[in-house]
Amino acid sequence: MSGKVLIVEDEPKLANVLSDYLKASGFESVLLENGTEVVPWVREHMPDIILLDLMLPGRDGMDICKDIRTFSRVPIIMVTARVEEIDRLLGLELGADDYICKPFSPREVVARVKAVLRRAFDGHTVQAQGLVLDEDRYQATLHGRDLGLTAVEFKILQLLVGSPGRIYGRQQIMDKMYRDDRFVSDRTVDSHIKKLRRKIESADPTATFIHSVYGVGYKFEPES
Ligand code: CA
Repeated sequence: MSGKVLIVEDEPKLANVLSDYLKASGFESVLLENGTEVVPWVREHMPDIILLDLMLPGRDGMDICKDIRTFSRVPIIMVTARVEEIDRLLGLELGADDYICKPFSPREVVARVKAVLRRAFDGHTVQAQGLVLDEDRYQATLHGRDLGLTAVEFKILQLLVGSPGRIYGRQQIMDKMYRDDRFVSDRTVDSHIKKLRRKIESADPTATFIHSVYGVGYKFEPES
């Protein structure tokens, strides 16, 4: 398993230990210490998962989590120093995927990261749209019907679906695809999107949730 982990932690020693363990398990990681940096960074770089400490300088983890959930479904694991805090956090329905209490073993954190990623991508369901994305198999189904997407089309759909309503420019979509060399292609984003839409519409002609934003790019907008 691989991916980009954003570690938000203001104790550098702890952050570095986590980073080392994650690296040894095949993940890349980025460290941020100040709460105010997190949301802008996430908007720009879209990590695969976030380890988010609760008590941070600048802005607290709860607030950050709520803010991220307004534009992204990226998996978030909240890290708290007090076990009794977890009940309260659960009650607040912040949208975090898991909670870890300090002190923890880095090994446990890596295991939780893997578990949350597996859960997030195993039959990741998009509400009310009948769309299911299975990352392990690069398979997307709509109302149970396999869309037969290519890896590139799947990647684009996954990117758009991950942040409903967010507009992605062509360059951003290209960057996401090109992060992995296997997806390099000289065809344009527009033609990939065209095929993707055709496949979606042949499974369900009323499914028009990928919209072009004239002169800007594309977005996934679920029907209400
Ligand atoms: Ca802290």
